[in-house]
Amino acid sequence: MQNNLSHPLITENIPLKKFNCYRVGGNARYLAAPRTNQELSDLLIYIKNSGIKYDIISAGTNTIVSDKNYDGLIILLNRLNDYIIKNGNNIKVGACVRLNDLISYSIESSLSGLVDLVGIPGLVGGAAIMNAGAYGVEFKDVALSLDVMDNNGVLSNVCNKDVGFTYRHTKNLVDKIVVSAEIELIKSDKLELSKKRNDILKTRAEKQPLDKPSCGSVFKRPKDGYAGDLIERAGLKGFRYKSVMVSDKHSNFILGCEKDINSDDLRYLINYIINEVDRKFSIVLEPEVKFIGF
Ligand SMILES: Cc1cc2nc3c(=O)[nH]c(=O)nc-3n(C[C@H](O)[C@H](O)[C@H](O)COP(=O)(O)OP(=O)(O)OC[C@H]3O[C@@H](n4cnc5c(N)ncnc54)[C@H](O)[C@@H]3O)c2cc1C
Repeated sequence: MQNNLSHPLITENIPLKKFNCYRVGGNARYLAAPRTNQELSDLLIYIKNSGIKYDIISAGTNTIVSDKNYDGLIILLNRLNDYIIKNGNNIKVGACVRLNDLISYSIESSLSGLVDLVGIPGLVGGAAIMNAGAYGVEFKDVALSLDVMDNNGVLSNVCNKDVGFTYRHTKNLVDKIVVSAEIELIKSDKLELSKKRNDILKTRAEKQPLDKPSCGSVFKRPKDGYAGDLIERAGLKGFRYKSVMVSDKHSNFILGCEKDINSDDLRYLINYIINEVDRKFSIVLEPEVKFIGF
């Protein structure tokens, strides 16, 4: 790897703990947080020429970062394209807008389509690339198109059907960065939308352990059944491993249960669950959460 990078956006030796839901992670050797497409494009060209490895974090609500120092560059997307532009029932929204802020804005504008996703933390870019979803609605259901940048710094517009939206994945966007999205919503009643938002937030608070650090559901839904149910039937509900434990409220959540969570404990528990569920039911659970630096 090249020894010293010199670029106006690149900072050095940055703790990654602040940038993910479990507050885990060592220091990134380099970190850059572009604010515009131009800054991102310049950065990607620089990265390509330097040959340095890189990873992406937006809000880190679906990401576990290793406690080892990261010997590469983190592109942090929590400042990229901070705008919401409404045009009739359509909204163009930048990657760094919080999904929940976009939902509030849509409700204020009497527009429906997004409200089922309320309570999902993270940013619009993360929601788009993960095809985040809840209560039978996914980001793909409102997306008209996504603006994405490739690793040569070239921007393109990808329409919904070409994104390759699948369950918690966008198969045609591997190695691409979502910089903004255009979504299409439907005129609706503001009061009804507000009521639905409150009901959903209430249900989430009842069913999910929101008082401790987590990444939401750790595993994707398998073909048959639910990950949480399999984990519970494997006898792992409430199972603790050092600084982390399987929630006893929602078995697909792994919670930090000490002030300092160890990323290896998270990794160990996730592998342990996979092995136990496989051993008991011959079903291999696939993590929904992403890993950096392991
Ligand atoms: C309490 C809780 C509840 C949750 N509930 C739900 C739920 O109901 N439904 C659901 O789907 N998820 C849920 N999640 C998971 C998570 O919030 C979503 O997956 C969210 O969309 C991730 O957004 P993020 O910005 O935090 O992404 P990050 O965690 O930062 O990134 C996730 C992945 O996407 C990549 N990435 C992020 N932004 C971009 C971008 N702009 N371009 C390219 N790649 C990018 C990252 O490299 C990483 O691989 C929950 C999480 C928590 C903590």
